Amino acid sequence: MRKRIYLSPPHMSGNEQKYINEAFESNWIAPLGPNVDSFEQEMASYTGSGGAVALSSGTAAIHLALKLLGIKRNDYVFCSSLTFVASANPIVYEGANPIFIDSEPETWNMSPEALKSAFNDAETNNQLPKAVIVVNLYGQSARMDEISTICEHYNVPIIEDAAESLGSSYKGKKSGTFGHFGIYSFNGNKIISTSGGGMLVSDHIDLLEKARFLATQARDAAPYYEHSQTGYNYRLSNLLAGVGRAQLEVLEDRVQTRREIFLRYEDALCNLPGIELMPELTSTRSNRWLTAMTIDKQKFGLGAGELIGLLEKENIEARHVWKPLHMQPLFKHAAFYSHHVEEVVSEDLFNRGICLPSGSAMTIDEQMFIIDCIVSAAVSGKAAG
Ligand SMILES: *Cc1c(COP(=O)(O)O)cnc(C)c1O
Repeated sequence: MRKRIYLSPPHMSGNEQKYINEAFESNWIAPLGPNVDSFEQEMASYTGSGGAVALSSGTAAIHLALKLLGIKRNDYVFCSSLTFVASANPIVYEGANPIFIDSEPETWNMSPEALKSAFNDAETNNQLPKAVIVVNLYGQSARMDEISTICEHYNVPIIEDAAESLGSSYKGKKSGTFGHFGIYSFNGNKIISTSGGGMLVSDHIDLLEKARFLATQARDAAPYYEHSQTGYNYRLSNLLAGVGRAQLEVLEDRVQTRREIFLRYEDALCNLPGIELMPELTSTRSNRWLTAMTIDKQKFGLGAGELIGLLEKENIEARHVWKPLHMQPLFKHAAFYSHHVEEVVSEDLFNRGICLPSGSAMTIDEQMFIIDCIVSAAVSGKAAG
């Protein structure tokens, strides 16, 4: 059996050990410590945010962002539908109600049209949301100008879920810096990884201070342990922050490599019948975290599920595009706004979408093997059809 080719495995640079050793030598094994402070400063400076708070996960970062914006039981929060469940779970932690917004075809991200209809109804019903969570899927930025204009009109803050888009930019500005808060993830499969971890960024320094307080059990300023609010244990450990620092040093390399991987796929696959690669919106630069494409069964001869199965037989891990959250059993009672009355873009992307192995440590030979498998599937698929 050939060695398995994973979708997006961690890719260490070799420098991580240096920061981990520093932590060991100074016995900073606790959460907090010099690596945490430095990692936060380096992330703030890389993204151009006012400040950053290192946390145990991207999910924790979204949760704290919602708390800091005062989201409470029975409030409404708008959220992209085509995303990983972690974008919306923290809404449920707070007892608030998610309302899901469809994608639009050019970014696969939140449709400004659908967002407008959701706001129209919310205004009519006197139920404006307390926040809008905008996701940048697979590294592609959402249409932030249009979305920001709509949200500003209603004076509703944005949380930018940039878990997948660290290193991407929109009109020259770093992805994750467009909202009231931005969040990043350093989970094992993300473009850079600390095995697990996240970051909350914002220009609202006072709120970031409050995030630090909430993330360390909300301990009041007293000579003993005194608490007047419920807090969390959400800080990143000083060891993992060391891994993060070394990973951040190679982020630009990683983006470059993933973009090259995308281009090789595009060159080889874009002329196959029924295949379309995920577009990149003009004046945005995607980190191409995952190469994603749609496949038209009529033209290609195989559907997304069949191609994934075929690649699996060759020990290649490809995956469906996220199943939209409005289609999840977990959210069956949540409201949903589609891009057009008769066009649900996210469902179509889910039905036809596939993510290809895109890890920055993948060799060219491995990628060529994946490409060969897809090309021969197209040929045999057509012959069969
Ligand atoms: C990975 C991911 C998250 C969650 O990040 P964790 O660090 O795994 O908690 C949130 N949103 C999106 C879009 C993600 O891909």
